[in-house]
Amino acid sequence: MINIAIDGPSGAGKSTIAKAVAKAKGYIYVDTGALYRSIGLWVARKDIAKEDKENIISELDNITLELGYVEGTQRVYLNGEDVSNDIRTPEISMYASAVSAIPEVRAFLLDLQRDMAKKHNVIMDGRDIGTVILPDATVKIFMTASPEGRAKRRYKELCEKGIETTYEEVLSDMIERDRNDSTRDVAPAVPAEDAIHFDNSSDGIENSVAELIEIIDKAIEAKK
Ligand code: C5P
Repeated sequence: MINIAIDGPSGAGKSTIAKAVAKAKGYIYVDTGALYRSIGLWVARKDIAKEDKENIISELDNITLELGYVEGTQRVYLNGEDVSNDIRTPEISMYASAVSAIPEVRAFLLDLQRDMAKKHNVIMDGRDIGTVILPDATVKIFMTASPEGRAKRRYKELCEKGIETTYEEVLSDMIERDRNDSTRDVAPAVPAEDAIHFDNSSDGIENSVAELIEIIDKAIEAKK
């Protein structure tokens, strides 16, 4: 199977680029952030504090997560309910970041992610795909962009979804989330040693997609 790992901070443009690459190459796009967000949503719905590790861990026994695809788009099911839209709020982003620092939560999601990569050609988007989930991935990309560029992109996405927020709020949440994600003890969001660094600061999506496809094709060729 071909497994492409694509890691990097939030808003770097991973999902946009990865989705386009998946479409062009006929791979399945796996958004692993949706899994952490779904656990965050469950915790928020239960009125459990983000910091309450003990109760979050015991809730894992009550959670079943599944990924599905509807017309090529990933959907995530939390105990059978499609929560794909509900997980996209700024509040749930912060819950996701908090729950993702708990080792038991990461362990809980490990097999689901690895199984997807075992069964399908995937391009998997996350923070620890190249370092922890798929250490033997065909190609590992670490995508970055300037914080301002990333916040601008996220802000636009949220506005398009009709979610009320401000650019300043998005930027400060993003900086906080980056700090949580990159300094946590377990699976910090850092590049794998053999990752290819990819700066996605420029605006041209098509160029980035073409460049990435070239990198992937070369890596596949080299492994033959
Ligand atoms: O990618 P997305 O912004 O949807 O991820 C939400 C949060 O989930 C991130 O801020 C991060 O804390 C966590 N996450 C993670 N590992 C992944 C994917 C997401 O820790 N592989």
